[in-house]
Amino acid sequence: MARYIESVCKICRREGMKLFFKAERCYTDKCAFERRSYAPGQHGQSRGKVSEYALQLREKQKVKRVYGLLESQFRKTFDDADRAKGITGENLISFLERRLDNAVYRLGFAGCRKESRMMVTHGYVRVNGRKVDIPSFRISANDTIELAEKRKKDPKVLENLKNAERRGAPEWLSLDKNAMKATVLRQPRREDTTLPMHEQLIVELYSK
Ligand code: SF4
Repeated sequence: MARYIESVCKICRREGMKLFFKAERCYTDKCAFERRSYAPGQHGQSRGKVSEYALQLREKQKVKRVYGLLESQFRKTFDDADRAKGITGENLISFLERRLDNAVYRLGFAGCRKESRMMVTHGYVRVNGRKVDIPSFRISANDTIELAEKRKKDPKVLENLKNAERRGAPEWLSLDKNAMKATVLRQPRREDTTLPMHEQLIVELYSK
């Protein structure tokens, strides 16, 4: 399967914000953005005025990479959001948040979305008691999410949960830490995202 191989820290520097692709490293002084908070490349510190199209494209690239999607996957999610009732941009964010790999990350079982995706594809995650190994699986209200029994005591998972406390718990998910089991309380809303996103720019880009 195709995958994104550029340094993810360059993405943070290009977007001018920390996007937290690297779990613990993102919270240390080794963070590349903390050291060089300007765009990579020869002209990184001297970027001039950017066009409207460039702004729209950058926003799409940023959101796509935050959730770890390829172009075709992102476009399909956008098309689903466009067909659904409601505001397309808000639907898009909601659909991205409802991805199973994102929920596993937001719950704190994984340190970053790349790790949560690996946990899902390796079959560590159960939805409503059944193994689901599809990262794009879209969870719904009242679904339950838990790890496979032998993963619940994995020291890495326990460490991830502890470290995730600084990210804050998402309001649309309820986690029982003793049972290591979560329930989806409601659909995620626009305001439930933790990173600044301008989804209207993406709608404008794809509407051209
Ligand atoms: Fe971004 Fe810093 Fe994390 Fe690298 S270490 S992914 S620059 S937040």
